[in-house]
Amino acid sequence: KPSNTQNHTDSSHYLKDFLEEMKADKIREHLRKFTQLPHLAGTEQNLKYAEQIMKEWQMFGIDSVEMVPYDVLLSYPNESQPNYISIVDHLGNEVFNTSLAEPVPQGYEDISNIVPPYSAFSAKGQPEGDLVYVNYGRTEDFSQLQREMGINVTGKIVIVRYGKIFRGNKVKNAVLAGAKGIIMFSDPADYWADGIQPYPDGWNLPGRGVQRGNVLNLNGAGDPLTPGYPAKEYTYRFSPEDGVGLPKIPVHPIGFHDAFRLLKYEFFFFHFKHLVIMTNLLEHCFHFHFHLEKVRMNIHTNNQVTRIYNVIGKIRGAQEPDRYVILGGHRDAWVFGGIDPMSGAAVVHETVRSAGRLLSTGWRPRRTIIFASWDAEEFGLLGSTEWAEDNARLLQERAVAYINADSAIEGMYTLRVDCTPSLHTLVYDITKQIPSPEEGEEGVSLYKSWHKRDNWTNDRDAPRISKLGSGSDFEAYFIRLGIASGRARYTKNTKTERYSSYPVYHSVYETFEIVEKFYDPSFKRLQAVAQVRGALIFLLADSQLLPLDVNEYADSLRKYAQSIAQLAQKNLVEMETYKVSFDSLFSAVENFTVAARDFHERLQTLNKLRIMNDQLMYLERAFIDPLGLPGRPFYRHVIFAPSSHNKYAGESFPGIYDALFDIQNSADPAKAWEEVKRQISIAAFTVHAAAMTLTPPA
Ligand code: GLU
Ligand code: CA
Ligand code: ZN
Ligand code: ZN
Repeated sequence: KPSNTQNHTDSSHYLKDFLEEMKADKIREHLRKFTQLPHLAGTEQNLKYAEQIMKEWQMFGIDSVEMVPYDVLLSYPNESQPNYISIVDHLGNEVFNTSLAEPVPQGYEDISNIVPPYSAFSAKGQPEGDLVYVNYGRTEDFSQLQREMGINVTGKIVIVRYGKIFRGNKVKNAVLAGAKGIIMFSDPADYWADGIQPYPDGWNLPGRGVQRGNVLNLNGAGDPLTPGYPAKEYTYRFSPEDGVGLPKIPVHPIGFHDAFRLLKYEFFFFHFKHLVIMTNLLEHCFHFHFHLEKVRMNIHTNNQVTRIYNVIGKIRGAQEPDRYVILGGHRDAWVFGGIDPMSGAAVVHETVRSAGRLLSTGWRPRRTIIFASWDAEEFGLLGSTEWAEDNARLLQERAVAYINADSAIEGMYTLRVDCTPSLHTLVYDITKQIPSPEEGEEGVSLYKSWHKRDNWTNDRDAPRISKLGSGSDFEAYFIRLGIASGRARYTKNTKTERYSSYPVYHSVYETFEIVEKFYDPSFKRLQAVAQVRGALIFLLADSQLLPLDVNEYADSLRKYAQSIAQLAQKNLVEMETYKVSFDSLFSAVENFTVAARDFHERLQTLNKLRIMNDQLMYLERAFIDPLGLPGRPFYRHVIFAPSSHNKYAGESFPGIYDALFDIQNSADPAKAWEEVKRQISIAAFTVHAAAMTLTPPA
């Protein structure tokens, strides 16, 4: 089929030069340079790296670079009162305490400012009580515990294992269930690969390694104290008690060494001599509700308004300076950030360097390119969201696309892409022009290498591309503002656990060396990711006709409509009783499909370029409902939202999905089905409205 993503640019030798200029060794250098010291958001070191990045981007020769500060709510452990968890005897004596820090890897012993493992934004407190294990702490885990096993966790401390879903959702579930504290641990079943040594001899998580992370439920709000508005000096702030998304109970993370002790299973551990048995034991404990000891949590973490710094670099567009293509990724790290985020930041740095080189040879993109080094992503996507709030008026009128650049690698297997449907075709075209980084695949394209490893079997014979979820900085751009967005990185074989990340995630063991020794010794995988991200922004910024494919959006809408209708069909009787129909949605999708096909045909005769480019750009915007989703005013995209049960996962037609969720157990079915009908009509209207934007303007 003809595609407007093919005739990208009249100057495709520039693209070739741009991609060939991105060097593996340079990426290695950038990564080494920016992972020497811990650089948590709000610390002096993270400001120093920001200044260094600003200076180097200026030297690379892009048009302008500025530092953009905000004052947002962050959260740090109390330096004089450490956080830990105790086992207490019947007299209340602490007979066991969890460790206060991770053992520091060799070569880093003298480094100060390594923040001990903690759950950012935990409530303070010292709750004491029985411990109840709730598997991954997912919605289904809590309902199984309560409904099937009749276990009430009100007034209890729950312990859940990390993985499967965003940790903030686990905390929300624990609060809703009435728990007075929540402990999260890394289970070897999720954070230990068979046959791999713990760091530094391999890339597994050592027994005393711990995953840090924020436990907010912001639903896209950004800084908890200034929802909707940029957190400047003059900005009105809510009092900390009224902050958005702050958990009401203490939360703390531990590694599996401490988890074994807390769960009293060293016996089994030694008996079976294998770590992976832990899951089965916990399953056992889960099902039979073994008696567990009383525990006390001691949490003294403080919330604090703190200055953060985004670095914003620009290349002015030659023909359409008022159209923006954004490449953004965060800089702040829990400790060294060897993988998260600096593998991504090193790639952005190399992209800026290459763009600067190209500028010096006389090239200038058609549209403006904006590079961003975001701060405080780890504290709830704060830097990127505040900048989006600050610039919302400009972005909604002028932003063409946003490409995210968090960690560029999380495994050694193949490419992983999540993006809006209109970018699918461009991603395929690009990866056909980039070489595979895998050894023994010389002369093979990245597309072919990726296709071989991860075919989209059910949907089509092409490499898999997934929906965007959240948990990184594209959120405000895509879900709140409706800007076409995408992300790409190298990943593990994700056939199974998609959201458990890599073993050393957010631990002190995320060093430069773990990338250099294990994840990407040749730095060719990072180079390939740099080329994918780079080619995306290059072609979005420099193609005459925007390389967005409206037919792909039509195909995806049909697929999502079918799948949500199928989900509803599980309640055939109720659908009859309450007269629920998906006809309006299917008719809107049909209408959209025709409008998209006609639009695409008119594109082939390329006269009204700017008009049609604007229609392409604003298509994503057309899916925004200014009223937002129910209870989530900053999640405004009617087709995609982060799942209400897992921020990392994307949900399609989220309004309908949430209205249908667990409807069998609804206390008032008539009312619940009315809400389903309302959501179907909102979805149908929105798809119709979007289709109208593709028809000839007059
Ligand atoms: N990427 C960070 C994490 O997964 C922050 C995600 C978020 O707050 O949405 O912990
Ligand atoms: Ca704000
Ligand atoms: Zn992170
Ligand atoms: Zn990150």
